[in-house]
Amino acid sequence: MTPPSPGQGDGDRAGGPAAGTGQGAGRRPRQVAVVPHTHWDREWYDPFQTYRLKLVRLVDDLLDLVESDTSYRHFLLDGQLAVVDDYLEIRPEHEARLAALAAAGRLTVGPWYILMDEFLVSGETIVRNLQKGILRGSSFGGVMEVGYLPDMFGHVAQMPQILAQAGLGHAVVWRGVPSAVDRTAFVWRAPDGSSVRAEYLVAGYGNGAALPEDAKQLVRRLGSMQDEFSSFLTPGEPMLLMNGSDHLRPQPWLGRVVAEANALQDDVELTITSLADYLASTSSDGLVEWQGELRSGARANVLMGVASNRVDVKQAAARAERSLERLAEPLSALFLPADRWPAAFLDVAWTLVIRNSAHDSVCACSADEVVEAVLHRYAEARQVGEGLAEQALQAVGRSMTAPGPVVVNPTAHERGGLVDVIVPAVGDPGPDVQVLSERSGLPGRLTVDGETVRTMLGLLQGARIDDEAYITDVSLAQDETGLDVTLVIGPEPRDGVPVEEVKRELFTLLTARPETEVRLVIDQPPVRRVLARQEQVPGFGWCRFAPATLAHPVRLDAATGGACTLANGLVAVEVDPGDGTFALDGVGGYGRLVDGGDHGDTYNYSPPSRDTLVDTPTTVVVTPGERGPVRATVDVVSSYEWPEFVDGTTHARRGSAAVTVTTTLELRADDPLVRVRTRFTNPSRDHRLRVHLPLPAPAAGSRAECAFTVVERGLVAEGRDQEFGLPTFPSRRFVSAGGLTVVHEGLLEYELVDIAESVDGTGPAAGTLALTVLRATGMLSRLGMTLRPLPAGPMDALDGPQMLGPVDVRYALCVAPVDPYRAADDVLVPLEVTGSFGGGDRPARGSELHVEGAEVSSVRRQAGALEVRVFNPTDADTTVRLAGRSGWLVDLRGRPTAPFEGGFALRPHGIATARLDA
Ligand SMILES: [Zn+2]
Repeated sequence: MTPPSPGQGDGDRAGGPAAGTGQGAGRRPRQVAVVPHTHWDREWYDPFQTYRLKLVRLVDDLLDLVESDTSYRHFLLDGQLAVVDDYLEIRPEHEARLAALAAAGRLTVGPWYILMDEFLVSGETIVRNLQKGILRGSSFGGVMEVGYLPDMFGHVAQMPQILAQAGLGHAVVWRGVPSAVDRTAFVWRAPDGSSVRAEYLVAGYGNGAALPEDAKQLVRRLGSMQDEFSSFLTPGEPMLLMNGSDHLRPQPWLGRVVAEANALQDDVELTITSLADYLASTSSDGLVEWQGELRSGARANVLMGVASNRVDVKQAAARAERSLERLAEPLSALFLPADRWPAAFLDVAWTLVIRNSAHDSVCACSADEVVEAVLHRYAEARQVGEGLAEQALQAVGRSMTAPGPVVVNPTAHERGGLVDVIVPAVGDPGPDVQVLSERSGLPGRLTVDGETVRTMLGLLQGARIDDEAYITDVSLAQDETGLDVTLVIGPEPRDGVPVEEVKRELFTLLTARPETEVRLVIDQPPVRRVLARQEQVPGFGWCRFAPATLAHPVRLDAATGGACTLANGLVAVEVDPGDGTFALDGVGGYGRLVDGGDHGDTYNYSPPSRDTLVDTPTTVVVTPGERGPVRATVDVVSSYEWPEFVDGTTHARRGSAAVTVTTTLELRADDPLVRVRTRFTNPSRDHRLRVHLPLPAPAAGSRAECAFTVVERGLVAEGRDQEFGLPTFPSRRFVSAGGLTVVHEGLLEYELVDIAESVDGTGPAAGTLALTVLRATGMLSRLGMTLRPLPAGPMDALDGPQMLGPVDVRYALCVAPVDPYRAADDVLVPLEVTGSFGGGDRPARGSELHVEGAEVSSVRRQAGALEVRVFNPTDADTTVRLAGRSGWLVDLRGRPTAPFEGGFALRPHGIATARLDA
């Protein structure tokens, strides 16, 4: 790394080899804390099981070493309990040894369950990770009380608040620290004002790795390290050496060489210690302060390109997290009895999501086999989430007083929205619904022989006929003239229909009376599938299906020549058949796909020195789809010739591959959001595809969703020679700039481009937001890249990150003023529909929970009680109203902090967790 230039006016810090220890007369030796550790990437350039074979050997040897050598006083097991569980799965008999060393302070575990990435996962995933670590750590006498964040690729703005709410007063960080921090420590403040003391690991978490076995060599090494670090060291303050690095084994001679080195000289005094004890010996006086996220490349790589490699992983992460946080948990907590809370299923699913949040896992800077495992874990987590959500929705249906479709709102905000329902085909559908399909009633009565009915019913698996038809009642009777079978068929499944029992009974009767005739009565009324805009449904509530009168119906106008317009009075979308782009309210150029070369790796984008950009299709075909009044769509099919790959010798894009990109634009009644879905089969390697979205007004910065808040960013990013400060930034679900709001599913990377000096001299402003659709590279890491010359990992060739094959992405655009959290919910967490047969006691409309005044991050059950986590993403104080509810505010360890009745105040950017009384 490049040593930073000295700060202003502090002569003490400059100077030669002994400067770091010099304190004038009566000086005492500089204290050097040595913290032995290993950094255990659970999976990375090798798969998990391959690393675990090494982990088990390492921990076996470590236990022997620490137990037998009291001079090896301490070992830090990387701040993540996952490695403990991974070890104990193979060596369950050693749990007591680990626990004994932890109890004696010789070994520290946690506080995390895994060392996650902070930008590519949700705020809830970060919190659940910490809570799982703390819970698991209780079996070992507690976790390390330090927010250890050694290798994360930058840090989210709210991390100090998350740590503070878990009772952790210290963070330890490396990547992302800006040049404004010029000491080994700083005060790191979250947007709400809470802060932690942050220890900055100069030269990283391996700054004391592989210490020499010889004491004289060790003393020499310490001298040169003090020179290297001198500008960061405060006189009189201790110095920290992290004795370990990626997958490194402990150095068994460490205790001996430390004692010998101390005996050899008086300049430094080495102590093998724990991170917590080292931090307790440091001072917090006079530290510089930094507020907000740490995303600078000034001192270490932040590897910003991980946000856009393997878009399939990022989409899978978004879907899995959403299925748990936004569907399975709130629906199960609110609509199932407390004793049916699916704790074990949720624990299984969350463990998969938390394991995947590891920085090398969700970042997909890993071997192809690792990424396959990550995708599989996300798929399983999502299957659990979606399945649990469906069970809770069915419970709503079963509890309704009246029969018919029921619409459930899994989010906190009262809202209407588009629903797709099956209703009886009675009369004129009316002007406010859009009929998708009709199914006529079946012939009411037929007489068949026994063999035919056996064949017919034999095909039936349970009560399902197809996705829109289920047997909802069945009966069987007989007399001397034959058998009577009656089937009632409806659009929704019903519990407890004895189809299999009746089948068995019928087959028994047919065996006894093989020649008898069977009179089959099928009662299936005609139905139609319709789209409608559901009337307002309360937050966390339900409402019987009720189509709203459309105030702003949508219509499609197709002109000859391919021009096509979707409009609803709130926004107009005009497709340009010339280049396949579209205009929003008269501003053209949306949806321009810009394909350029990428000779980078999984960590960083890097354009080839001779790049070719392709942004003009060879042909465009515009095909009108649905025509309203509830939903209108148009397909834009654009053909391109993309270069096939980057030639490693000439650094130019070469070859030509034909690709057909289909973009579907969708506009709904009474909704200013334009939904976009783009799909194609990627034929090319080594490239980056971005969609360019013009800003209605020039923008000097962006506002992007991040864990528990919205962060503001400018047009530039800090970097250094070894990593260019590329201003591509991550957003969780939405980003806004210049009057445009973009909501996306897993398209985490954006950049403001088309930057011009503004005419009135107010500074540069961007004209376009570029959203990365795909970044395809063929190397885990690479040497000699334009924007990052040194490798960031092994230089392994990979197939997976080339993303050859189908790509299917979706996002939505809004050029009207909009609450981005509501927009994100409308796009990503739509209203749900379930069916009811009536007979329960739930009225036609209602809500299980009213939360106003803040965004809701989580609703779940903890120890039987409802627990709600909210955050205030605004700059103003708010009052969170929980109508009719009382309880206790708790911290992230579940410890009560203050009672509340009906609501509580929440500071700007504050996070609060409320446990509700029953
Ligand atoms: Zn790592």
